[in-house]
Amino acid sequence: MPCSVAPVSDVEQLLRRRGVQVTTQRLAIMRVVADRPHATTDQVIDGVRAGIGTVSRQAVYDSLAVLVDKGLLRRIQPAGSVARYEDRADDNHHHLICRGCRVMFDIDCAVGDTPCLTADDDHGFEIDEAEVVYWGRCPTCRAAASSDPADLVT
Ligand SMILES: [Zn+2]
Ligand SMILES: [Zn+2]
Ligand SMILES: [Zn+2]
Repeated sequence: MPCSVAPVSDVEQLLRRRGVQVTTQRLAIMRVVADRPHATTDQVIDGVRAGIGTVSRQAVYDSLAVLVDKGLLRRIQPAGSVARYEDRADDNHHHLICRGCRVMFDIDCAVGDTPCLTADDDHGFEIDEAEVVYWGRCPTCRAAASSDPADLVT
C-alpha cells in the first residue's frame, strides 16, 4: 500500500479534530512517523531534531504519549523490541516480523471484516483491537540459513 504523506495542513486539522493542541513539535513528530512507519522513539527524536532543532527527549516522550492517547499514533511493542510508532492508528492492521533481522511489514486484517475481533467468548467486552503479530523468517534470512549448513540442523 503506498504511503500517503498528508500535507501539514491536513495533519493540523486532524490534531484539532481530536482535541490535540497543535504545536510545531507535535507536527514534526507526525511528519517523522508518516515518513518512517514503525519508527522507534530514538528515530522519532532524531527526526524531530533534524526537522526543527533542539528538543528534549522528555518533551518528545510526552508528545508521543498524547498523540497515542488521542488515537493519532499507534504504539506497538513486539516481544523483544523497543516501542515503535506509526500513523496507521485506527485500522486494526497487524504486523509480520522476521525473527532473524526484525524487518517488519504491515499486514491488513481481512478486508471488510475483522474476524480476529470476533472472539469466541468476549466476556461482555466491546472489543476494538486485536494485537496480532505474525512471527517468521524473511526470504533473506531463510536464504542465509539454507546456505549455512550449520543452521540446517536446528
Ligand atoms: Zn530477516
Ligand atoms: Zn504497522
Ligand atoms: Zn485481523
